[in-house]
Amino acid sequence: MKKRLEQLKENALLKIKSADNLSALQEVRVAYLGKKGELTALLKGMKDVSPEERPIIGQFVNETREALEDLFETAKAQLRLAELKVQLEEEVIDVSLPAKKQKTGHRHPNTIALEEVERIFIGMGYEIVEGPEVEYDYYNFEALNIPADHPAKDEQDTFYINEKVLLRTQTSPVQVRIMEGAKPPIRILAPGRVFRSDEVDATHSPSFHQIEGLVIDKNITFADLKGTLATFAKELFGADTKVKFRPHHFPFTEPSAEVDVTCFKCGGKGCRFCKNSGWIEILGCGMVHPKVLEMSGIDPEEYSGFAFGVGLERIALLKYEIDDMRLLYENDERFLRQF
Ligand SMILES: [Zn+2]
Repeated sequence: MKKRLEQLKENALLKIKSADNLSALQEVRVAYLGKKGELTALLKGMKDVSPEERPIIGQFVNETREALEDLFETAKAQLRLAELKVQLEEEVIDVSLPAKKQKTGHRHPNTIALEEVERIFIGMGYEIVEGPEVEYDYYNFEALNIPADHPAKDEQDTFYINEKVLLRTQTSPVQVRIMEGAKPPIRILAPGRVFRSDEVDATHSPSFHQIEGLVIDKNITFADLKGTLATFAKELFGADTKVKFRPHHFPFTEPSAEVDVTCFKCGGKGCRFCKNSGWIEILGCGMVHPKVLEMSGIDPEEYSGFAFGVGLERIALLKYEIDDMRLLYENDERFLRQF
């Protein structure tokens, strides 16, 4: 029995020495001192030992157990120290390395373009106003002279929350809300996000931005509208920029026009950018329809006004000569960092 114990101790010692990490050492420990370990198995043989010998053997077993425990503890401490040393070497901090650069973002091209447009109109005495993106059908269509069966409603198909509430298709409802609540003179610029159920492509997105302007006062004429937009175009695209008004139709203005500016790339001679026409279309506008004024509680006999609407993305794309609207929304840093 004593011999077997000595043999066991010797074997254990060899295995402890060969264990080169903490988990391997723990396995050796379980194999010898665990409930199903070799030492425990040996103890079960105690019943075969004669009663006289039992105390001596028992003491020897205890000594062996203690000795093994000591060996394990020592080995464990050594392995821990070794692992710590490796860890310290691997995780060394080089204080001479340069610090990590803090990345500071900057304004999106849309925001830069919007601030530029706002600056121009604030300079002309306009007030910037905002309205809800989730809007009543009444403000988005009806109050703008677009009744339920009007074809313009199909063109501006949108996302309905319920029969009466939708995601606005234009920023024009802000104008109605202002006209309802304020007394002329009114001079506002309403920028904001609008929605259409359009498929995404190079020039369309289900969500984009409009900037609308509205002026209502006594004796406002088409000449005021032309002067205002000519000033805007010169400020935005350069002092030599000319504007051209083409007749158009919008339900909420009469007369209505689309506005082109001379190409800022070629000055109107014609180039690839303006598809050789010398002109670039930038916005729609017109004199506010008397019916729209009336519905908002403004007397069309006393007051008149004009309105215009421009796509913010259109301005950003032109300003930075970007040919695909999707780039504005992909959040690709390599693209955005250029502005
Ligand atoms: Zn051109």
